[in-house]
Amino acid sequence: MSEQLNEYSDDSSAGKATMEKITSLAKRRGFVFQSSEIYGGQNGAWDYGPLGIELKNRIAGAWWKEMTRLHDNIVGLDAAILMHPRTWEASGHVENFTDPLVDCKKCKSRFRADQIPQENLAAKKCPDCGGELTDTRKFNLMFKTHIGPAEDTASIIYLRPETAQGIYVNYKNIIQSNRMKIPFGIAQIGKAFRNEIVTKNFIFRTCEFEQMEMQYFVKPGTDEEWFAEWRKQRWAYYEKLGVKMDHLRWHQHGPGELAHYAKDAYDIEYLFPLGWRELEGVHNRTDYDLGRHTQYSGKDLQYIDQDNNNERYIPYIIETSAGLTRNLLMILCDAYDEEQVAEKGNDDDWRTVLRFHPDLAPITVAVLPLMKKDGLAELAQDIRTELKEDYSTDYDQAGAIGRRYRRQDEAGTPFCVTVDYQSKEDGTVTLRFRDSMEQIRVPRAELAGRLRQEIRTYKRMK
Ligand code: ATP
Repeated sequence: MSEQLNEYSDDSSAGKATMEKITSLAKRRGFVFQSSEIYGGQNGAWDYGPLGIELKNRIAGAWWKEMTRLHDNIVGLDAAILMHPRTWEASGHVENFTDPLVDCKKCKSRFRADQIPQENLAAKKCPDCGGELTDTRKFNLMFKTHIGPAEDTASIIYLRPETAQGIYVNYKNIIQSNRMKIPFGIAQIGKAFRNEIVTKNFIFRTCEFEQMEMQYFVKPGTDEEWFAEWRKQRWAYYEKLGVKMDHLRWHQHGPGELAHYAKDAYDIEYLFPLGWRELEGVHNRTDYDLGRHTQYSGKDLQYIDQDNNNERYIPYIIETSAGLTRNLLMILCDAYDEEQVAEKGNDDDWRTVLRFHPDLAPITVAVLPLMKKDGLAELAQDIRTELKEDYSTDYDQAGAIGRRYRRQDEAGTPFCVTVDYQSKEDGTVTLRFRDSMEQIRVPRAELAGRLRQEIRTYKRMK
């Protein structure tokens, strides 16, 4: 269904995640702000605030660990955003990286022709106002600019629309410097830019975003096997992150959907409040990219298999391509919960809670003194200092303790440590769990170890 048409705004949405609530929480708590807001905002660009950058770093860290540390034959790369313009001719992006565009002559709305109902397209009727639509025209999504002082055709340069090409052009360097043997992979996280026609829906589709891509180089003929293996691994990854698995599904690209380079492609889709949408793509890119770079650069990009009589071939590539910023939106939606925690009509009868996995939570533990006075603040600060080395921490001494717990729930902090008068007497503190709201007393000396164990054995309750 079209992104324009099935976004819902729900007034009877108690207990449910909606895009409006998530966008508003993200701003209120400093996850995500509109870019250049004081100037009215910049479409398609967003800024990540203090909690947002922590969450983004943790998601990137989890992916990086999964891809590089847990796989002996996958190494990392950080290639430049600006690449030689021939790269994009070779990759096919100059010619093929287009979306079909239509405009409404009356209300001036702009649509991707593949995202509005076919009836509207056939009748050239605007889905918003019924006005007349223009003919469909192709629109290249690459941002084009100039490098150097002269703005002529020789100085054209593109902002990369995907991180993958930086990997392909370095594949020989990496084989030589790191003595990689096929099969092996190269992982990269970085910014990508696309001049998207429709950028509504918060950070779902933006002009500037980040990707987490891993390109796996395999012998032709083994590609289908590796393609199946990577689909399995990417599915298991989301399971490990604690994502609601009934909110994930596969979508195989039909013949009309396949990108120009792909032999086969599956998307992992997530059930966002907007509906089912692509989260990550797993693609069999064949030898298309390395073949084209061979042709355009004149360099021999064949792999030489020294263990097999120096057999030469252009490897096939299996790609796993996930949006980092789209993953962040998914994690926010997945974690979002509203729970009735007291009789209706009482103060604070509902709480909003982000049920992040503790490995992803921007703040792992908040330390709260019951009172500021009588040395409790100092003791709490001392505990926080001790925990800082191992955990991301917060300290809050403002307002009633119940309110402070709610603030931490809303930020997704899985653990709170409360320091009270008993702490001064017997050296114990209260450990409060975000999900169950259960509170237990723990000797201070055992706190760090207990947290470590709770994080390692964490299971989401709902
Ligand atoms: P679409 O067809 O929806 O435009 P795509 O299939 O072209 O997207 P890919 O090129 O496969 O997307 O990109 C890989 C991943 O990068 C996507 O699964 C998505 O998570 C992320 N991504 C792509 N475009 C954007 C964007 N404009 N904003 C945010 N994330 C994006």
